[in-house]
Amino acid sequence: MTPSSMNARPLLNRRLAEFGTTIFAEMSALAVRTGAINLGQGFPDTDGPEEVREAAVRALRDGRGNQYPPGPGVPELRTAVAEHQLRHYGLAYDPDREVLVTAGATEAIAASLLALVEPGDEVIALEPYYDSYAASIALAGGTRVPVTLRPRDGRFVLDLDELRDAVTPRTRLLLLNTPHNPTGTVLTREELAEIAKLAVERDLLVVTDEVYEHLVFTDETDGTTPAHLPLASFPGMRERTVSIGSAGKTFSFTGWKVGWVTSTPELVAAVRSAKQYLTFVASGPFQYAVAEALALPDSYFTSFREDMRAKRDLLSAGLTAAGFEVYRPAGTYFITTDIRPLGADRSGGGDGFAFCRALPERAGVVAIPNAVFYDHREAGAPFVRFAFCKRTEVLADAVDRLKAL
Ligand SMILES: *Cc1c(COP(=O)(O)O)cnc(C)c1O
Repeated sequence: MTPSSMNARPLLNRRLAEFGTTIFAEMSALAVRTGAINLGQGFPDTDGPEEVREAAVRALRDGRGNQYPPGPGVPELRTAVAEHQLRHYGLAYDPDREVLVTAGATEAIAASLLALVEPGDEVIALEPYYDSYAASIALAGGTRVPVTLRPRDGRFVLDLDELRDAVTPRTRLLLLNTPHNPTGTVLTREELAEIAKLAVERDLLVVTDEVYEHLVFTDETDGTTPAHLPLASFPGMRERTVSIGSAGKTFSFTGWKVGWVTSTPELVAAVRSAKQYLTFVASGPFQYAVAEALALPDSYFTSFREDMRAKRDLLSAGLTAAGFEVYRPAGTYFITTDIRPLGADRSGGGDGFAFCRALPERAGVVAIPNAVFYDHREAGAPFVRFAFCKRTEVLADAVDRLKAL
C-alpha cells in the first residue's frame, strides 16, 4: 500500500474513532507541567501492605509465576477468590469452574463484553460511566444505552423507571457498577432488588463491576456496619451475573493488574474464550501475592476502609469550604462536585472542561471533568471529580491550595 492510499481512510477503525486519548493523559501531563497536585487519576500514592509486596518478591525468587501461569489463573488465587466471596458475602463459587483471573478488572470487562455481546445487541450502562465501558461495548459491536444517574438529595440516584424503560427486546445485558465511579453512589438494597427483579423478568445478563467492594463507608444515619451487597447475592442473580473484582483497588496495587471474574461455569467459560486471545495470561508472580492478600484478616479490610473514609471526610470538608457543592460519596475513592455554586466567573460558567483546564494555574490542583463519562455531555457539564486516595498531607495541601478559588 502506498502512503497515499493508506491515508485515504482513517487509520483508526470506526468502532474506536470516537475514543481519542483519555482525559487522564491530558490532565496528568498538565499536572506534571504545572507542578499541580494530581487528584485526577484514581491511583493511590502509597503502595498496599508490605507483606503482600514481600509475597510478590518471594514468588519471583521462588520461580512461581515467572512463566505462563495456567489460563484460568493460578489455583492458589482462584481458591483465594472463592474463599473471599464466601467469607465476605456467603457466596459459594467452585474455584476450578467458576473463577477466572484476568489482567485487572479492565480485561474482565472487555472479555465479558466481547464474549457475551453480538453486534447490534444493546448494552445498558449507568451514566456517567467508567471510560473503558464505552470502548469495550464498541469493540464488541454492541450499542450503548446509557441510563443517567441524577443528583437528588446529595446523591446521584438511579431512576428505576428509566432503567425499566431502557430495556428493549434487543437488550442483551446490564453493565452495572456499585460502588459507582465517578459519583460515589452505592446502590441500596432496595435498588439492587429492583434491578435483580428486572433482570430476571426480562432475562438479561448482568456484568457487575464491584472493584470498590471494600470501600463502602459507614452509614452514619443508621449506624449499620458498612457492607457491600453483591448483585449476585440477590434472588435469581447468581446464574445470570458476572461479578468483577480487582486487587488494584482492594489492595492498592493498581500496577499489578490482577482482577477476577466469578460466575457460573458456562459464563466463566464464555468470558475465558475471549480472555485467552486478549492477554492469554498476565501478572504471574503477582497472582500468588494477591492470593495471600485476599486471605488477610478482617482488620486489613476495616482499616483500609476507615483510612479512606477519613480521607474522604478531609477532602469533602475542604471542597465544601472552597465553595463547591459536594456529593459526599458513600463508596469509592472519588468525590463528585458541582462547580456552579462557585459563581459564574469562578466556575467558568459551569463548564467542567474549561474549569479543569484552568484549575492547575488557578489553584495548583488537577481534577477531572465528569462530562467525559457521559454520552449526554450537557448532563455532566457542571460536575468535576476529585480523587482522595492520596496521602493525608497531600490532601491537606490540596485543600489549602483550593482556598485560592
Ligand atoms: C479502576 C477501575 C477499573 C479498572 O481496574 P483494573 O483492575 O485496574 O483494571 C474498573 N472499573 C472501575 C469502576 C474502576 O474504577
